[in-house]
Amino acid sequence: MNCQEVRILIDGYVDGELDPIRNQEVEQHFRTCPVCLTVYNSHRALRTALRTGSLYRTAPPALRNRVQSSFKPASTWKSLMGSPQWRWAAAAASLALVSVLTWRVALLPPTQTADDRLIQEVTASHVRSLMVSHLVDIQSSDRHMVKPWFTGKLDFAPSVADLIEQGFPLVGGRLDYVNGRAVAGLVYKRREHVINVFLWPSAAAVETRPLAHQGYHLVCWTQSGMTYWAISDLNSRELQEFVQLLQNQTPR
Ligand SMILES: [Zn+2]
Repeated sequence: MNCQEVRILIDGYVDGELDPIRNQEVEQHFRTCPVCLTVYNSHRALRTALRTGSLYRTAPPALRNRVQSSFKPASTWKSLMGSPQWRWAAAAASLALVSVLTWRVALLPPTQTADDRLIQEVTASHVRSLMVSHLVDIQSSDRHMVKPWFTGKLDFAPSVADLIEQGFPLVGGRLDYVNGRAVAGLVYKRREHVINVFLWPSAAAVETRPLAHQGYHLVCWTQSGMTYWAISDLNSRELQEFVQLLQNQTPR
């Protein structure tokens, strides 16, 4: 489940309206995504505040007197309902509701950038590949086996480099889903560290950029009309060394 899907379900989750499977999927996501967890916590805090009445404030006596004196005593309920005072009260009530809703919206974190979303998606895919023992669809250290495996599965041909002599053996390849499309996942290793490389065609031109997220190191770049993301729990220096080797072996 990605962040977008989780955000839609957060209200239902807070209100306990989700079925057990969805519930579990949302909780699973919270464990790997601190951003969604923060959104969830602010929803829950608002809900608690509304329930316990901690948002209730007693009006100062002066205000209370002024409001009360502005209401003339109404003879019957019926005449009150039709009275201008009642309409004012109704208007005030809607205004209060609008304020609560506005406040609720303001509590949400600022809109994520496309980059933030990609970083989270790439990290989630990396973590998932390690968790569910679905690291590779094709296990081979031979790039002449891995590259053709993607034929017919993707609308592009990923270039696959052989870096075993440099200490980054190829483990295999995997189909993955990132950025709203099917992408190639190439898996390399450095000692016991897994490196996932995701690539897909894109017109963007991005300089090589090292990033960090949730304890993982990431590097993104573009080359030959492809967007690349490499991610690993390997230290930043070795990951960047790996990226440089990969870039040198990839036709420009
Ligand atoms: Zn998330």
